[in-house]
Amino acid sequence: MEEAGQTFDQMLGCDGQNGLVTFEQREERACELGDALTRLLLEEHLAADDMADPGVEVACPFCGRPVPCEAPEDVELQNRQVRTRRGSVDYERAARRCEPCRRVFFPRG
Ligand SMILES: [Zn+2]
Repeated sequence: MEEAGQTFDQMLGCDGQNGLVTFEQREERACELGDALTRLLLEEHLAADDMADPGVEVACPFCGRPVPCEAPEDVELQNRQVRTRRGSVDYERAARRCEPCRRVFFPRG
């Protein structure tokens, strides 16, 4: 909500107009700010996903066996980026190693 409030402030400025005169200027600014807010919402949501937690057990995508994570503090985190309709969004996922498959994978999501 704080970010949403800041977005409104950036749109309106201190005089309620913020130097935006034409409709196109207003539309351009509103779209830019809306896109930034959309990306922020996505990043927050991705970070809150259980799959972001290195300690959570997940199923191996190759064999389907559950892969436990015994030492969450030692797990490699991979920075990932996804292109969305509103620009690029960054998030992290923890690597898992399936011993029977001898493969490393990153949970989806
Ligand atoms: Zn496996």
